[in-house]
Amino acid sequence: MSKEFIPAAKPIIGDEERAAVDAVLRSGMLAQGAEVAAFEQEFSTVLLDGRAAVAVNSGTAGLHLGLLAAGVGPGDEVIVPSFTFAATANSVALTGATPVFADIELEHYCLDPASVASKVTERTKGIMPVHLYGHPADMSALRAIADEHGLALYEDAAQAHGASLHGRKVGTFGAFAMFSLYPTKNMTSGEGGMVSTDDAGRERTLRLLRNQGMLKQYENEIVGFNARMTNLHAAIGRVQLTKVGGWTEARQANARYFDQHLTGVGVPEVADGAVHVYHQYTVTVAEDRDGFVAALKEEHHIGSGVYYPIPNHRLEPFRRAEDLPNTEQAARTVVSLPVHPSLDDEDRDRIVHAVNTLAKAGA
Ligand SMILES: *Cc1c(COP(=O)(O)O)cnc(C)c1O
Repeated sequence: MSKEFIPAAKPIIGDEERAAVDAVLRSGMLAQGAEVAAFEQEFSTVLLDGRAAVAVNSGTAGLHLGLLAAGVGPGDEVIVPSFTFAATANSVALTGATPVFADIELEHYCLDPASVASKVTERTKGIMPVHLYGHPADMSALRAIADEHGLALYEDAAQAHGASLHGRKVGTFGAFAMFSLYPTKNMTSGEGGMVSTDDAGRERTLRLLRNQGMLKQYENEIVGFNARMTNLHAAIGRVQLTKVGGWTEARQANARYFDQHLTGVGVPEVADGAVHVYHQYTVTVAEDRDGFVAALKEEHHIGSGVYYPIPNHRLEPFRRAEDLPNTEQAARTVVSLPVHPSLDDEDRDRIVHAVNTLAKAGA
C-alpha cells in the first residue's frame, strides 16, 4: 500500500494558469484592469446566471464591503452562525454592527431557521447564512423570516461556488453574496473574492468602496478602501473558472463513493432540491474525534480538517454566553476528509479503508 500522504486540500495550478500570469507580467499592466473586468463578466455568466459580480482582494473584504454597501453599520445587528470561519462575524464587527449568533441544524450544518427567528430584535438589519462546506443554507425558510420582519438576506458563499437550491444558484438569493477565491476553496485566484448583487446602486457602491471611493481617478465620491484585485490574480481566476465545473463533478463523484462505502461514521446529508459542491466532505465521529484525526494522519498518512473546533461565540473577540447546542455538538464531532479533485481511485480506497478501520476500532 502506498504511504504517500494524502493532503486535506490541494489547489490545482497548471500550465494554463502559469501562462496567463506570465502574459499579464509581460503586459506590464499588473494592477486592476482588463483582466479583472473580464473575470467579473465570466464569473457572472458561469456562476451567477448573469447577476453582477465585483472582484475584490479577499473574501473577507468582499463580506465587509458587501455589508457596508447594504447599509450595515453601528447599532445594527446581523444574525450569523457561530459555526463558521471567523471572517463571517469579523466582517459584521468591522462595520461597527454586532454579530448575533444563531444555532445550526445538524443535517447540513447551516443556520437553523427556528434559532434565527428567536434571535431577531428591533436592531436586526439582516441575516447572513453561510453555505457551509458547499451545501446551500435553507434560503426559503430564511427568506420567510426576513420578509416577516423586514430584514435583508446576505450570503456567505465562500465555500459554495456552483451550489444551488431548487435550480437557483447560491449567490443569487441575497442583497449581496460573497465567494472566496482563497487557494483551498473550490477555485482560486491566489487570494481574492467576488461579490454579487442584483442592485445597480449597490454594485456601484461596491466599486467605489474597493477603490478609495472613486470610479474615475481623483473624482472621489465617498470614503473607500484599497480592496482591488490585481490583473495577476484575475488571470489565474479566469483559467480556474473554466475548470471549476469539472472539478465540482469530481468532488461530487468522490462524495458519492464515500457515501456508499464509509461505515461507522455519519456521512453528510443533502437537502431536497439542493446541489452540494462538497467544498468539504464532512463526517461525524461520535467518540474521540481528535484521536481519530491523529490516527488518520499518523497511522494512515491521510490529512483531514476540523472546521471548526471552536465556535465563534467562544473566540476571544466575540466571547459570550450562548446556548447553541447543535453548534457545540458539531464542533466536537465533525471531521472533513479529503474530497478534492486530485484524488485517484487508490486514494479513495485508502481513505475508505482507513476511516472504516478506525471507526470500527473506536466503536
Ligand atoms: C474562506 C472563508 C471566508 C473568507 O474568505 P477569504 O478569501 O479567506 O478572506 C469567509 N467565510 C467562510 C465561510 C470561509 O470559508
